[in-house]
Amino acid sequence: MINVTKTYLPEKEKYIEYINKIFDSGWITNRGQFVLELEEKLGKLFDVNNLILLSNGTYALQVLYKALNLTGNIITTPFSFVATTSSIVWEGLTPVFADIDPNTYCINPKEIEKRIDSKTSAIVAVHVFGNPCYVEELEYLANKYNIKLIFDAAHAFQVKYNDKSILSYGDGSTLSFHATKIFHTIEGGAIIVKDPEIARRIRLMINFGIEGYDKITDIGINCKMNEFQAAMGLCLLENINERIEKRRKIHTLYLEGFRDNSNIQFQKIQDGTTSLNYSYFPIVLESENKVYELRDMLNKNGINPRRYFYPSLEQLPYCSQNLEMSISSSIANRILCLPVFEDIPNEILNKIISITNSVTQ
Ligand SMILES: *Cc1c(COP(=O)(O)O)cnc(C)c1O
Repeated sequence: MINVTKTYLPEKEKYIEYINKIFDSGWITNRGQFVLELEEKLGKLFDVNNLILLSNGTYALQVLYKALNLTGNIITTPFSFVATTSSIVWEGLTPVFADIDPNTYCINPKEIEKRIDSKTSAIVAVHVFGNPCYVEELEYLANKYNIKLIFDAAHAFQVKYNDKSILSYGDGSTLSFHATKIFHTIEGGAIIVKDPEIARRIRLMINFGIEGYDKITDIGINCKMNEFQAAMGLCLLENINERIEKRRKIHTLYLEGFRDNSNIQFQKIQDGTTSLNYSYFPIVLESENKVYELRDMLNKNGINPRRYFYPSLEQLPYCSQNLEMSISSSIANRILCLPVFEDIPNEILNKIISITNSVTQ
């Protein structure tokens, strides 16, 4: 089966070199040398100051909400992976959805402003499929109403907006390094924050709030990254740019293959975007029935596209008090992500293109 993505693994020998060093040192977690090295390298790569590695991207969201003392209502997007919403509910906060832009699939700032009230403490937005959301408009709103601004940047590894890392906007951003993401540490994630004092608090929080021998200063949890995870990340950093370039070429081939097909809608990339990672290739079809038809036909040919993201999150059983999100649910019903990974064979790519054209045209 050709899946929507394929976990990238480094050369085994390269990983084993790191594993040997871990065995030599005997230090396998609690800010070992590879976690420190990966933090430093990622901070440099993104040109950000306060980057903290964690055990996964969901904890990154949850810890960031706590560290920023969020309360009450959080305005967020209904069009994302479920963790964007479930993390809010898990922390005892209330998600209030604002609908998305039908072309970029990112949260619409005008819809946000209508929902801000005295209970609102933050906006949690998503750079959907790595497409930068409306960062300037969102920063304007966050300043105007004195609320926090957080970006779930799980898809936005290496993404730049106006030649600046997308991670440098807002009060903080989170990354996911899950095995299915372009850059991964098996499981893993990171928080990036503007305020060094918040960063200090996060470092304590992810290790039980323990400040040192005999000293516990804050409430904490345990969600540290370990050395085996960091070693995987260090291996993957070595050729990340080559891999992004290969994915860019796959995108170009898809776009060329669908050039004459006016029944497919593509994600509009935000003006001002200067670097993308090409991890996903979403297409939006005319109807939900077409999605089922295309998925069945691709499945029969050994190809497994995915409905990212379905369902629209206001339909979650624990969010049903929210208003209907007509644009998000319409996109969620009609979207399909086609396979993208570096070594996808050309004949498979051509097969996907010709099946998609024949079903939709
Ligand atoms: C993958 C993902 C997460 C969760 O990250 P994990 O590392 O799997 O916990 C959160 N938000 C979005 C948008 C994601 O795609």
